[in-house]
Amino acid sequence: MPEAADGERRSGLARNLARVRTRIADACTAAGRDRGEVTLVAVTKTYPASDVLHLASLGVHDIGENRDQDAAPKAVEVAAAGADVRWHFVGTLQRNKVRSVVGYAHMVHSVDSVRLARALGAAAQRHRDRPLDVLVQVSIDGDPTRGGAVPAAGGARSGSVAGGADVEADDRLLERVAETVANTPALRLRGLMAVAPLSWSATEAFARLAEIAAAFRARYPDATLLSAGMTADLEPAIAYGATHVRVGTALLGERAPLR
Ligand SMILES: *Cc1c(COP(=O)(O)O)cnc(C)c1O
Repeated sequence: MPEAADGERRSGLARNLARVRTRIADACTAAGRDRGEVTLVAVTKTYPASDVLHLASLGVHDIGENRDQDAAPKAVEVAAAGADVRWHFVGTLQRNKVRSVVGYAHMVHSVDSVRLARALGAAAQRHRDRPLDVLVQVSIDGDPTRGGAVPAAGGARSGSVAGGADVEADDRLLERVAETVANTPALRLRGLMAVAPLSWSATEAFARLAEIAAAFRARYPDATLLSAGMTADLEPAIAYGATHVRVGTALLGERAPLR
């Protein structure tokens, strides 16, 4: 990029970042929470490595990506430039990509099946020298077709659970996924991640998530992280306990439609 355009991009990102930081700080104040409790993860999907470098130079060191095909080469480019960033994998993860992802990821937010947890654990065991931080992605509305593990009945409202007998459903049970991660030495269970369902209000969704997270922490007291909230709904997410907000559009601009 020519130097002038590059400088302009950096100032644009700095302005957007100032706005997002203000939103986070205001949401923390409104919720009576300490600003230090919330980490901003900049989701740079579809944007180039040069934007990651700008963000790092502006003090954003947590970077989110949702496709390994894009993230892996970006991680190489950013590392070659000497920037210090922690990569967060936030998208649907196919088992044939786990080997690549464990090579650069600091945290995977989107583990939602026993099979994926096992594959990730095996890859981390072979290709890393320290455990990989993992969040279990939870389905707030209990519909596993849209991603996320499903809390068992009892925790769920009005018994909205997939039938437990069936192997597929079992693979996607939150409690089973969490137990698998917790019992895998190469993985470290850190908490939960969720995306608000389209048909729910953000407040309703994150209130439900807070209940699920409270039950989860009773079982796994060290798994205290909660990744929730994006450009449109970071305020209600913070009100209901998010420790990580994943923000793309408000920082980097509208994305071209995903290919
Ligand atoms: C793209 C993406 C985000 C960021 O969304 P914005 O609305 O652009 O802030 C957050 N989380 C996940 C899982 C994403 O795929």
